[in-house]
Amino acid sequence: MSQLILVGTGHVHLGLFARIPLLHRKGHQVTVISQSSTYCYSGMAPGVLGGQYDENDIILEIKAVVEGFGVRFIPQKVVHIDPKHHRLTLEDGSSETYDTVSFNIGSRIQVEGLSLDPGRTIPAKPIINFLKIRERVESLLDENRTPRIIVAGGGPAGLEIAANLCRLAERRSATPDVTLVSSGPLLSDLPAGARRTAVKALKRAGVRIMEDARLSAVEDRRVGLLDGSKLEADLVILATGIKPQSLFTDSGLPVGEDGGLLVNKYLQSVDHPDIFGGGDCVTPESGRFPRIGVVACRQNPVITRNIIAALEKGKLSSFRRRKSYLQIFNLGAGRALMVKGCLWFSGRPAFRLKDAIDSRFIGRLKRSVGAA
Ligand SMILES: Cc1cc2nc3c(=O)[nH]c(=O)nc-3n(C[C@H](O)[C@H](O)[C@H](O)COP(=O)(O)OP(=O)(O)OC[C@H]3O[C@@H](n4cnc5c(N)ncnc54)[C@H](O)[C@@H]3O)c2cc1C
Repeated sequence: MSQLILVGTGHVHLGLFARIPLLHRKGHQVTVISQSSTYCYSGMAPGVLGGQYDENDIILEIKAVVEGFGVRFIPQKVVHIDPKHHRLTLEDGSSETYDTVSFNIGSRIQVEGLSLDPGRTIPAKPIINFLKIRERVESLLDENRTPRIIVAGGGPAGLEIAANLCRLAERRSATPDVTLVSSGPLLSDLPAGARRTAVKALKRAGVRIMEDARLSAVEDRRVGLLDGSKLEADLVILATGIKPQSLFTDSGLPVGEDGGLLVNKYLQSVDHPDIFGGGDCVTPESGRFPRIGVVACRQNPVITRNIIAALEKGKLSSFRRRKSYLQIFNLGAGRALMVKGCLWFSGRPAFRLKDAIDSRFIGRLKRSVGAA
């Protein structure tokens, strides 16, 4: 009997959960180790701030699902990998051995070089933090004033968070006081027209935009920028870019320059064929994948096939990246901005499309694991 360990319950492992009965029938034992017992869908998370969705729409209780399949679920963080002895060390000091292991542990918000007051800052990852953000903003609104909120990060996550926070304030008949601070030009990866549309939408929602302004410190209500200027804020939300966890670097595995597990076209560690990985935590040896959920979802069937093939000594399949991926950003108030390569459009139809894609995805996921 071989031992398969799945670390992390992100997008890439979801397809495997429904195949657990098959793996059991073939005599393989499956263990799931994850820091969190829930799966939280990022595509709909900004809508939790904007009021389009609630907690039940974006969360799936993975622990209950996998235990329902007769799998051992260990609610722990993996802190070390010993590829020579096929051993994983967990946060509580215990260890688990594997024949095949797969990592889908996502990414974290980059906070290196920042001095942060944890009482005033909330990172946008893990995605479950969106519930904390909503709760904190609502309690600030309960104090019956206009809370000053700074969103640090000029990428798509900063855009969606800032726009939807304004919506949250408006729904409570409050005046939004949201500042979006970007260390460089805002949304620099988007086509120029899409970028202009997003900026217009932010301004219409009431967001103050500060470009070329880099956050350096948050100390109580005082927020310092790198040029020495100071702002006042009740809450700072960090969307300052993402980075793989340091687990692979700390364990001495081959990694890309950003610390992601270095994988070949089969989503397999370049040095250790019994280690697989997908989603935000890996870096392909053939260049970069965009770190977005769409890529992780597309890796899901490939990793499912390859893990089964590795256990059964079968043939591995390649993951082929596309030239561009469809991305739809929630601008709040029932509007969205859709971008694919150099094409884009915005407005209510874009949000309806996003809502249809996201609702279908989460509905299908819940049905596939028997949770709907
Ligand atoms: C605001 C926001 C909006 C976004 N919207 C979109 C969107 O609309 N479309 C899109 O394509 N992308 C979107 N993204 C990007 C998307 O969130 C990520 O690319 C995606 O979540 C990555 O999925 P993943 O499967 O790699 O990891 P995740 O879904 O992050 O899952 C990681 C899992 O690993 C567990 N874990 C972490 N560390 C350990 C450890 N050491 N040991 C054990 N378990 C561990 C975690 O608990 C979690 O279960 C958005 C991101 C943000 C911040």
